Amino acid sequence: MKELLETVVKDCGYTWRQGQVATYIPELAKARADATGIAVCDLSSGLSGAGDTDFAFTMQSVSKVVSLALALSECGEEKVFSAVGMDPLADPFNSIMRLEMDAPHRPHNPLINSGAIVVLSLLPWKESSQRIAAVSAMAARMTGRKAVAVNEAVYLSEKGTSDRNRALAWFLKSVGNLEGDIEDILDAYFRQCSLEVTCEDLAVLGATLAADGTNPVTGERVVSPEVARVVRTIMATCGMYDGSGEFAVSVGIPAKSGVGGGIAAAVPGRMGIGTCGPALDRKGNSVAGLAMLKRLSEELKLRIY
Ligand code: GLU
Repeated sequence: MKELLETVVKDCGYTWRQGQVATYIPELAKARADATGIAVCDLSSGLSGAGDTDFAFTMQSVSKVVSLALALSECGEEKVFSAVGMDPLADPFNSIMRLEMDAPHRPHNPLINSGAIVVLSLLPWKESSQRIAAVSAMAARMTGRKAVAVNEAVYLSEKGTSDRNRALAWFLKSVGNLEGDIEDILDAYFRQCSLEVTCEDLAVLGATLAADGTNPVTGERVVSPEVARVVRTIMATCGMYDGSGEFAVSVGIPAKSGVGGGIAAAVPGRMGIGTCGPALDRKGNSVAGLAMLKRLSEELKLRIY
């Protein structure tokens, strides 16, 4: 496996040149654009990786998988999916347009920004510090790490440039679809996006979902098989922003990307895959990550469709 991953990095790494690092959160603009790494956590043979497996980046939207898994476990499917939908959206992840146009003004799914903010508000903890502690504990259990910490510089940078996310949240409040202390919920959202990981962490996170909720490295049952199934399904339909349909055809694996350049993928019953590559395409997906996942999916026949 390691040899195959090295070939994948060698053959696909150069594609980063076709993308650009996110700049709308100033701290993300400082990322090394050419960092490229991939890791696989195979459910039978364990972890292997190639390229920049030590490169640390913030989870950004990949964290939405973690908070969704937590909310489904704590509140149940019915409560979560009465507050957010489960349908893909052909608009950018931070778009406000549909939220306003489509009654009942409910986020279309839990993996866009408005949906993730609502998901956080459902968690049974009142304070931002308790919410983020619970999300980061869930991230640690899914990745098999002792702790997953917030990158303070990215958090402050995101918080300082958060007009759009604030607009989404306050709009939701104005139509009665977001309850609680809005600034406090937003604070937890900025912190969860700033949780810092490596592609190896994302491989283990993906493997936990691939193994129906049991972390294959620690052996811990983290979420129920039903929660893992629902999360994988939402990843498959909505995980790659407005590029989810194209990704389903070309790669064919449930996956979630983030503007920090990470992608976590879960191949049911087989493996988790994590990639990093901060240079993004216009939809917000890592260019090198997409190329590596496509190649690996072809080589190992991973498509689930
Ligand atoms: N923190 C980012 C934001 O709210 C997350 C976006 C993403 O990774 O899709 O804009």
